[in-house]
Amino acid sequence: MKLRRSRTAPQAVGSDVRRPVLQLIRVNRTHGAGATEVVSLCDADLTVKAGEFVAIMGPSGSGKSTLLNLAGGLDVATAGEVLVEGADLGGMSVSERAVLRRRSIGYVFQDFNLLPALTAVENVSFPLELDGWSLRRAHAAARAVLDEVGVADLADRRPEDMSGGQAQRVAIARALVGARRLLLADEPTGALDSAAGTGILHVLRERADRGASVVMVTHEARFAAWADRTVFLRDGRVVDSTRPSDPADLLVGLAQ
Ligand code: ADP
Ligand code: MG
Repeated sequence: MKLRRSRTAPQAVGSDVRRPVLQLIRVNRTHGAGATEVVSLCDADLTVKAGEFVAIMGPSGSGKSTLLNLAGGLDVATAGEVLVEGADLGGMSVSERAVLRRRSIGYVFQDFNLLPALTAVENVSFPLELDGWSLRRAHAAARAVLDEVGVADLADRRPEDMSGGQAQRVAIARALVGARRLLLADEPTGALDSAAGTGILHVLRERADRGASVVMVTHEARFAAWADRTVFLRDGRVVDSTRPSDPADLLVGLAQ
C-alpha cells in the first residue's frame, strides 16, 4: 500500500523548509452558551510544517470542517491560538486576515463556492487580480493551474455549465493558484470519480513535495495514504495521529 512517490528535495523555500506553517495550540471552538452550548472543537493541537501533507479523518460532526475553517481564518477560535507562519490569526483585523488568506492560504470548500457569474479562468484568477496582478499575468497563471488539474478545456465556461466533478477541479485550481504556502481542502475528492480523485491527490502531494503545507479532510483511507500522517477527530477532539505508511495503524484509527 505504498502509494506515494519518494520525496523529492523541496525547492520552494530553501533551508527554512521545515518551519511550522500552521500551528493550532489548545484551540477550542464553541457555539452558543449554557445548556445549548455545542463544542465543535476541544483543545486541539496540530503543527504542520512546510512540505508536510496531513490528512484529517473522523465521523460526520467530529469537527473536521471547524478545524479547517479555523486554520484558514474563516472562523475564529473561542480559546487557544491559531498561527499561520508564526502570525496569530486571533490578533488580526478582518482585513489583515483577508490579505493573509488571499496571499498565503488556498482553500477548497466542500461546496466549491465558485462565483456563478465568472468563467473558470476568471474564478481562478480573481484572488490574484485582487492582489494587484495584471489581468494578463493573472489569467496566464490561472490557465496553467487549470491545465495542472486537467480542466484546461473548461477555462471559458461558467459553473452552471460544469458537472460537479468539473466544478470541483476548478475550485481546486483556485486554491492552488499563486504562491500559496498553506493548502486546506475539505473533502476535495468528494465529487470526483476514482481516477480524477487520484489525479488531485497527485497534485496535492506534489505541492507538498515542493514545500507547501497541505491539510486535507477525507473519508477515504486510500486518499489519506498519500499524506505523511493522518489525524483522527472524534467529538471535537484529536484522538489519534498516525502514519498512513502503516496500514495497521490506520485501521485501528478508523475503528475507534
Ligand atoms: P465535520 O466537518 O467533522 O462533519 P463540523 O466541524 O462541521 O464537523 O461540525 C462539528 C460540530 O459542530 C457538529 O456537531 C456541528 O453540528 C457543530 N457546529 C458547526 N458549526 C456550528 C454552528 N455554526 N453552530 C452550532 N453548531 C455548529
Ligand atoms: Mg465537514
